[in-house]
Amino acid sequence: MHHVDWTAWVWNSFNFPKHSFITWIAVQDRLRTRKKLMSLGICQDASCLLCGESDEDTDHLFFNCSFSKTCIRLMSQWLDIPVSSQNIQEAWKWWRKSIKDQIKRKVVLAVLAAVVYHIWLARNHAYLKKAVIHPRILCNATRIEIVDRLKGLIYLSWIREHCKWLDHLNYRMIG
Ligand SMILES: [Zn+2]
Repeated sequence: MHHVDWTAWVWNSFNFPKHSFITWIAVQDRLRTRKKLMSLGICQDASCLLCGESDEDTDHLFFNCSFSKTCIRLMSQWLDIPVSSQNIQEAWKWWRKSIKDQIKRKVVLAVLAAVVYHIWLARNHAYLKKAVIHPRILCNATRIEIVDRLKGLIYLSWIREHCKWLDHLNYRMIG
């Protein structure tokens, strides 16, 4: 995961610390993906547990996996902010550049960090339980978590428009 200023993403104050932590580990390519486990002789099969279409490494999981692309598509529909490509890196670059409102930008970047965290959680779930959760379920869990946190972050500095936007997101089911 290169070519972007990841620090600004990871240290976004709207992020959950646990989302920042997993995103930071992912950025440094230190997640124990199946490709890594196979090279260590810990597992025999490197195929992606979420899509089965390719080997599981960090780039595949967050950039190319059809599961994560579906998540990005659903989240961008929820936010009502289109993406040029259903890929976390492209969404990050595009949203960061195109969203001028500082609060909204911090919200959508926190959403992306949450998606990274939940994809890794879904991958661990698939690894341990041999079952893949539906992207729609993942996205709604992300929605509830993010909205709850943001409600707690609403300061007096949040203008009415932001509060209305958050309310709208709160009640908008995904998928
Ligand atoms: Zn995959």
